[in-house]
Amino acid sequence: MREVRVHDTLSGALCPLRPRDPGSVGIYACGPTVYAPVHVGNARPFVVFALFKRFLEHLGHRVTLVENVTDVNDKIYAAAREAGVGSAELARGMTERYEADTDRLGLGRPDHEPKASETITPIVDLIGALIERGHAYVAEGDVYFRVASFPGYGRLSNREGDEGTGEEDSALKESPRDFALWKAQKPGEDTAWPAPWGLGRPGWHIECSAMAEAILGLDFDIHGGGIDLVFPHHENELAQTEAGRAAPLARAWMHNGMIRFEGDKMSKSVGNIRSLTGALDEVGRDALVMYFVGGHYRQPLSFSAEALEEAGRAVDRLREFCRRLDRSAAGPPESDAYLERFLDALADDFNTPAARAELFAWVSEGNRRMDAGERLGVGRLQEMLWMLGLEALLDAESEVPDPVAERLLAERQAARANRDFATADARRDELAALGWVVRDTAEGPVLVRA
Ligand SMILES: [Zn+2]
Repeated sequence: MREVRVHDTLSGALCPLRPRDPGSVGIYACGPTVYAPVHVGNARPFVVFALFKRFLEHLGHRVTLVENVTDVNDKIYAAAREAGVGSAELARGMTERYEADTDRLGLGRPDHEPKASETITPIVDLIGALIERGHAYVAEGDVYFRVASFPGYGRLSNREGDEGTGEEDSALKESPRDFALWKAQKPGEDTAWPAPWGLGRPGWHIECSAMAEAILGLDFDIHGGGIDLVFPHHENELAQTEAGRAAPLARAWMHNGMIRFEGDKMSKSVGNIRSLTGALDEVGRDALVMYFVGGHYRQPLSFSAEALEEAGRAVDRLREFCRRLDRSAAGPPESDAYLERFLDALADDFNTPAARAELFAWVSEGNRRMDAGERLGVGRLQEMLWMLGLEALLDAESEVPDPVAERLLAERQAARANRDFATADARRDELAALGWVVRDTAEGPVLVRA
């Protein structure tokens, strides 16, 4: 099997993927805290790890992808108070929105999506083990991790610890570096669970240690998430599991770079398009996925109108290429070499921009040959598109707008020309209900599949 190497934040080096259980890969990636609708920044790890899973599956691995939902948290209590609803109700509603929004990316769901509120027993068990081993202490119903008891603290982030996350009552802590594993119920908090040290709720970090262990076991293959989670979240996860279980949490740590919302000139309010659903409404899922794969997962990715337009043009070019292919023709053998280089790129720290460039190199060659009169089949294109999450582009039938959609688009344009924005928005919503998104291009508006 082809060797896959990923950059491991802990060792700071490219490391070959050597699964704990040969042939099976376990991945845990930190998911959202559900207090507000998710934005495109939250969607990046969702896309990166969904596609990384596809790549590993293409190579023949069995992959178990776990992405948690943090549904008990200070931000959720605050948002619920503001909205005048119960915190569990708010978290439930926001979880449903998160699932609906990420479903629209068309990349399927992780294999497990554990919720903190449903993982209390493993959390209490791990905290108990930490107290027993002297790595944690109870203080007035709270439980804190004793950082000084774990000499390896700081290995992941190269930081020594600081005042914690700022949400803890430091008066109860032995040291400002210590962090909460369990928080006693406070007035105004409407959810709490029983534990040997009192009624309360888990801290953020302990939930991921416990959920990962419960589903993937210890020393699993890859722990992932945004680079902003390295400290304190992942540093604390690593410390909790190693101190409590005397075994490593994960073999490699894979972190994605942040989305940068800078210097953009969006056609709509930036606030709207920053939400995942706003971005999907604006450009459609194909262009958004193309935008994500256009950047290396470790690098920051700037979110701008220009970047989205570039992705939209790339999708149009690819869709047009797919339309020209002759489905009855045998795949040209020359596409095999492109697929090989495509896989080489992904095996080298999941370099999706290099893989994407290989795909477009094949598009260029294929177009030249079809211009010269050759009939080309799909060949290995389908596999490349699937690994980039763009396989729907081969489904040419669904891409041709029907007369009803064309009429609605014409009415939207007429309404806009008359500055009748209410009617224009209504037509856009009707198109959305039919599964079409209007994309404004230099050649005028076009309909693309949502
Ligand atoms: Zn986490």
